[in-house]
Amino acid sequence: MALVIDGKRISSEIKDEVRSEVAALKERGRAVTLAVILVGDDPASKVYVRNKKKACEYTGIQSVSIELPADTSEDVLLGEISRLNSDPSVDGILVQLPLPEGIDEHRVIGAIDPSKDVDGFEPVSVGALSIGLPGFVSCTPAGVIELLKRSGIGIEGKECVVIGRSNIVGKPMAMLMLRENATVTVAHSRTRDLREVTRRADILITAIGRARMIDRSYLKEGAVVIDCGINRTPEGKLCGDVDYDDVLPVVSAITPVPGGVGPMTIAMLMNNCLLSAKASERGRQ
Ligand code: NDP
Repeated sequence: MALVIDGKRISSEIKDEVRSEVAALKERGRAVTLAVILVGDDPASKVYVRNKKKACEYTGIQSVSIELPADTSEDVLLGEISRLNSDPSVDGILVQLPLPEGIDEHRVIGAIDPSKDVDGFEPVSVGALSIGLPGFVSCTPAGVIELLKRSGIGIEGKECVVIGRSNIVGKPMAMLMLRENATVTVAHSRTRDLREVTRRADILITAIGRARMIDRSYLKEGAVVIDCGINRTPEGKLCGDVDYDDVLPVVSAITPVPGGVGPMTIAMLMNNCLLSAKASERGRQ
């Protein structure tokens, strides 16, 4: 019987751990604060921001919301970031993506002080991950590592295939699995024979964005499957990149969608805020 990895339970565990550490910091007079910048009124972004605020409330992290109109100039946005960078009461800065057209995302993310880059998207954080230095790690891939570890799934020495090479999921995921001593292959839309590659995987991680694309023909018997995809079926039902019902009989462990990787992202964001506050507290001692 396959182990169904319960991301809801594990993310709650992490949020509870963060909550108790945040409370302990507060007792020492140190509040933890996340600043969230939202530009424009994209409905999906608004939902994400609302969920992040809810998680902040639960964990005791203060959230400061900066909502700017869609026609905000890049300079004004950069000015906000600069102000938050130099505000000692702010531990984490998050710019909700995507940004309206005409704003250079790389420039904006690159302006965040790496010591407050709780999303882990800033180039210094990305570079630190790839050369093995400490720094913030992008929340979804960091969440996948926690899911594996807390489910007792060993990573070292395993063949891991990551499908997807985006900057926010695929690439940092591959770097993290490498850091955990897996043998890592990254596949993408130009991979010649995807099945031949994925059938080598002891651990297959999908970050594709294609509803139920991966069926059992892509898998080795007994593989662990981690599905980062969040897609909709033609009927509008939430689903992953993996055809869950088809692969369930042949996998040793799997994350469902919803309830697998999804809830981990915000939990890891909360954890990154806590790590930032702890690092700045250490810096002041
Ligand atoms: P991107 O669209 O940025 O990247 C998708 C990747 O999949 C690309 O590298 C692309 O290859 C590859 N790909 C696309 N089609 C195929 C194919 N047919 N065969 C092999 N590879 C393919 O998406 P993201 O990385 O941002 O997101 C991926 C999924 O993860 C989405 O469903 C998204 O909603 C979800 N997601 C979930 C999060 C969570 O909290 N759980 C957070 C972020 C994302 P190429 O580079 O060649 O184009």
